[in-house]
Amino acid sequence: MSTRSPHIVWFRRDLRVRDNPALTAACADGGPVLAVYVHSPRDAGPWGPGGASRWWLHHSLAALTSDLNRLGIPLLLLRGPTRSALLSLCSRVQARAVSWNRRYEPGSIEVDKRLKAQLAAQGVVAQSFNGSLLIEPWQITTGVGSPYRVFTPFWRKAQTLVQAEPGLPAPEPRRNHFVVDAPGLTLESLKLLPRIPWAGGLAATWQPGEAGAHSRLERFLVESIQGYREGRDYPQKQSTSGLSPHLAFGEVSPRQVLAAVHAHWNSGMGLTPDADFFVRELFWREFSYHLLFHFPNTPTENLNADFDTFAWRQPDPVLLKAWQQGRTGLPIVDAGMRELWKTGTMHNRVRMLVASVLTKNLRYHWLHGARWFWDTLVDADLANNTQGWQWTAGTGADAAPYFRIFNPVTQGERFDPEGGYVRRFVPELAEVPTRFIHQPWLLPPAEQARLGLAGTPYVRPLIDLASSRTEALAAYKTRGD
Ligand SMILES: Cc1cc2nc3c(=O)[nH]c(=O)nc-3n(C[C@H](O)[C@H](O)[C@H](O)COP(=O)(O)OP(=O)(O)OC[C@H]3O[C@@H](n4cnc5c(N)ncnc54)[C@H](O)[C@@H]3O)c2cc1C
Repeated sequence: MSTRSPHIVWFRRDLRVRDNPALTAACADGGPVLAVYVHSPRDAGPWGPGGASRWWLHHSLAALTSDLNRLGIPLLLLRGPTRSALLSLCSRVQARAVSWNRRYEPGSIEVDKRLKAQLAAQGVVAQSFNGSLLIEPWQITTGVGSPYRVFTPFWRKAQTLVQAEPGLPAPEPRRNHFVVDAPGLTLESLKLLPRIPWAGGLAATWQPGEAGAHSRLERFLVESIQGYREGRDYPQKQSTSGLSPHLAFGEVSPRQVLAAVHAHWNSGMGLTPDADFFVRELFWREFSYHLLFHFPNTPTENLNADFDTFAWRQPDPVLLKAWQQGRTGLPIVDAGMRELWKTGTMHNRVRMLVASVLTKNLRYHWLHGARWFWDTLVDADLANNTQGWQWTAGTGADAAPYFRIFNPVTQGERFDPEGGYVRRFVPELAEVPTRFIHQPWLLPPAEQARLGLAGTPYVRPLIDLASSRTEALAAYKTRGD
């Protein structure tokens, strides 16, 4: 094989140049390096990137192209199907090897396995690495050798297996550039950007790409990690890291995050309680991947089979739309759904509340919510989204029991006591006195009229919390009958 044969790095959800084991391995090989990204939403079946993720992907690929250019590595964009695109590229450029970082979604595992075998048959070296997890899903088992289904013991064991280690540095810039004979596609031709003006709010909130990920991490460590343990539950405080889309697209690795937390907040006696609590959340992400890998049907099927006979209701399109658009009349639920639409994210506690209302008060199957989140979240991640929905719906293994139904009024009063979060995202309620902000329907009618609320769902919510709760509990008791 010619010494000009390139080593291909196949990028997926690892859109970074630092701490990227596949890129490091390719560069260490000595010859020219060619980077490739294959856009192939069909390979992911129903879980191809949703609208918000496509927006993110566009900007993240743009950032990666410049970061790689600085290293003297061209990034070629191709269209799928993935395997045939990669195999024909390998023949065209006479690739010597292909390296990539592993994915854990069932569809990706299938593509990788077959690709590895076909590359080997063509005489091309194929190597895969762990670039997205602190611990591989198969490296941790219970005492009897089975996968974990409960978080706390998983977390206890995982802590004994994972060390905080600095990530790999970016490779040195290349001297021997690889010149691609035929250019790939342009980023614009992938048509990832939405055609509606919706993306303005995303651009105002986020900076996709590796530089954006690291500035967010730095800011979090300096400004917010202290007080995280308490502050993380209050949606108005913005005390969480905002790293989830950066982690979902692999612009920063969990190993880099863990190392940075240790470098900043290790008091010498160990992590401070706030930092420790934050690290615990990183392990929730690990746990989600562990579950997805060992229970690959869970993106569409209940982990707890007891729920397979549960009497979910057929969604009423009007109510489902009201939930999606944040017009149910329940202030904190509407604020969350509008935050999602406007910024591509939603605070974790509010995610739990809106999911509880959908799966318990409305009694719609959690997949209706998971699919909406998939389309609208910039951090849409099959492992975390599946785990989050199944946990809240009560259908997961280590889940909030179905009969524990969140009350959005009391939750709002507890976690948004001044109503600042509601006022920010539901401007109709901006003038409502704090005492009534989470139940404006209790305002005297004259006040409702003065505030312009008459005739809106805020004087008569579309969901009756008390009766829907009773019905949900009755359905739970009789499931399987
Ligand atoms: C119904 C529902 C759906 C969800 N869908 C997603 C999703 O598609 N993608 C996603 O990344 N997270 C999802 N989550 C988990 C969680 O809400 C987000 O990870 C978190 O809000 C992201 O904000 P942050 O980065 O500021 O989190 P931080 O509090 O700063 O946490 C740091 C990191 O830890 C991880 N993490 C935090 N909480 C969780 C959790 N409960 N489960 C798994 N990992 C966690 C994330 O990677 C996060 O970036 C979902 C939760 C629920 C209840």
